[in-house]
Amino acid sequence: MIRAVLFDLDNTLTDFMKMKDGAIRAAVEAMIDMGLTLDPDAAHARLYAIYEREGIEYQRVFDQLLRDLYGELRPDILAAGIMGYRRARDSRLVLYPHVKSTLVELLRRGLRLAVISDAPSLQAWQRLHHLSLQHMFEHVITFDDTGERKPAPAPFRRAMELLGLPADALLMVGDWPERDMRGAQALGIRTVFARYGDTWGAQRCAPGCSGADFEVDDIGELLGIVDGLNRQGPGGGGGGEPEGPVGGARDPGSGAGGARRRA
Ligand SMILES: [Mg+2]
Repeated sequence: MIRAVLFDLDNTLTDFMKMKDGAIRAAVEAMIDMGLTLDPDAAHARLYAIYEREGIEYQRVFDQLLRDLYGELRPDILAAGIMGYRRARDSRLVLYPHVKSTLVELLRRGLRLAVISDAPSLQAWQRLHHLSLQHMFEHVITFDDTGERKPAPAPFRRAMELLGLPADALLMVGDWPERDMRGAQALGIRTVFARYGDTWGAQRCAPGCSGADFEVDDIGELLGIVDGLNRQGPGGGGGGEPEGPVGGARDPGSGAGGARRRA
């Protein structure tokens, strides 16, 4: 029986990369307006190279670019970048389609909800408030709460402790196979791969490659998955589960509401 759903935040609930990309482009325009001597594409590429190296949450990306280019901070250009970034960020952070209706529907069905994010605590809470999701989740577990990032077991164990639920009562939803899926699976938590959020970097995960129990193209498919698992009765999994199609084939007629069922 699934009693609670754990969600990754960025690129699972929020379209984080769309926000990031818009904010970076606005920052680059503002910096060029203040005298940055790069064309927009070159500046964009250099900023993303810094993110690739330091992580997508890195907070000093413009400082780094300016030091690399000029050997100093150039506060006139830095200020333009920061302000351009902030203005665009606030207007571009959005939820994926059907996120809010799906969360509300899960709550109506009596499921408990939590977030497990590798983002810093303040940034995660800011994003939740900005999107008016701050009251939806019983627990928000961030990097700052355990000092460990997924796929380490600590954040998942913390969720189990706080909810007081065993692994087989949980379902983890995320966009990053190596972190969100493997981390949960290592503790016996069933997984749903948010294929729609898998847009960061050049390589996309082919159907089935996530290794998740289910793969969805829209978060709304989660309702059918939860209903399907909970129809199977107490335990919800173990030996009682009917065999689904293996290998990521579409199965619109399955109890999992059309989501790809694997394993
Ligand atoms: Mg994510």
